[in-house]
Amino acid sequence: MRIIVQKFGGTSVASPEVRELVLRKIAKAREQGFNPVVVVSAMGRQGAPYATDTLIGIARSAYKSIAARELDQIMYCGEMISAVIMAGTLQAAGMDAVMLTGGHAGIITDDNFTDARILKCDATRLFSLLKQGKVPVVCGFQGMTSEGEFTTLGRGGSDTSASALGAALNAEMIEIYTDVDGIMTADPRIVDNAKILDCISYGEVCQLAHQGAKVIHPRAVEIAMQKNIPLVVKSTFSDAPGTLITNIAKEDTDGATVMDRVATGVTYLNNIVQIKVHLDDSLGTDASFKVFKKMADNGISVDLINVHPGQIMFTINADHAEKAATQLKQLAYTFDVLEKCAKVSVVGGGMREVPGVMASFVEALSLKGIAILQTVDSHTSISVLVQQNDLGAAVKSLHEKFGLSGE
Ligand code: ADP
Ligand code: ASP
Ligand code: MG
Repeated sequence: MRIIVQKFGGTSVASPEVRELVLRKIAKAREQGFNPVVVVSAMGRQGAPYATDTLIGIARSAYKSIAARELDQIMYCGEMISAVIMAGTLQAAGMDAVMLTGGHAGIITDDNFTDARILKCDATRLFSLLKQGKVPVVCGFQGMTSEGEFTTLGRGGSDTSASALGAALNAEMIEIYTDVDGIMTADPRIVDNAKILDCISYGEVCQLAHQGAKVIHPRAVEIAMQKNIPLVVKSTFSDAPGTLITNIAKEDTDGATVMDRVATGVTYLNNIVQIKVHLDDSLGTDASFKVFKKMADNGISVDLINVHPGQIMFTINADHAEKAATQLKQLAYTFDVLEKCAKVSVVGGGMREVPGVMASFVEALSLKGIAILQTVDSHTSISVLVQQNDLGAAVKSLHEKFGLSGE
């Protein structure tokens, strides 16, 4: 059996007209001899009646800090509605479609509500449906604990559902259908001449996704990579070939070997707060440990960490700023908080040991008068912290400087 997983995001299932386009993509896969497993997200984006953000808004109108377990129960509804409607659309076209929840499809998670991790995926039921010639339509984003509690996989997690099912089914390919023609060199909402990448490595796209590119969920890439299943990100609204995510070294349309590109894309994360803690010798040698321990014990994840004698610096998501400040006050350490920051990163699988990458990076920002607040780098990325109001200019300038702009 040739199995393909086809995942359709929120905008791809938002209206009867676009669901017709989805129907055609599924019918085409069947004509090509594939047995498709369809995965859907909740319909539409913020403002649409059953979009995930709308459902969160409804729950929070009762209580802003509603418990994660309860939030999961309402978020679950978005994908349920979408999968029922999509299964109905396929049935009306004569396909033997069957709607399944994440739990029905065998996705078992831990009980970390709103950000659950998949522990295992038992594809027995899916295999049996496929053997009977049926088209399973699975709710993305959902899992179930071994005790039968409903969980969700973190925002954007329908991509991860698709990869987990693809891995469990040994699928030939996983297609992620969305509203852009593929993965681009930058978010097209910021850079209007960003280019579609026809091929990208798992490693690069993972970095892009972890550093903010919302086009694909990073865990989806990690799961597909483990099984070496090709992932393709493409549009529901066009016949463009999309972006192939793979490990195979091949040339892109510009003739550069994909694995060796110095810069593949620019990405960003905003809503960041920088914290500087001042430590004098009287506080003892374990002072910095105490700070990081406090953050860890309170579930606050830290990034852009610099530890110097007398000072430590790190960043956190702004949602945790109040909690972090309360903890630092308890320690009675002096600290400064800089709000409204953003992290901008350039990712490229081939940037390691290439002289001049940092110089180009700094030049691109200083030419625009953008202050660099902090930096961090890895083998395949360089990131800087800037003021949030410099974000757009920084992304555009780096995109231009690293030769990523199209015509
Ligand atoms: P879906 O609901 O289909 O999963 P998402 O909103 O999660 O769609 O992801 C698609 C969106 O990601 C695009 O509309 C685009 O605005 C945004 N995006 C951000 N960075 C990138 C990038 N580097 N390449 C392509 N799209 C990007
Ligand atoms: N509907 C969920 C969300 O908005 C999952 C997804 O779209 O992938 O986060
Ligand atoms: Mg998405």
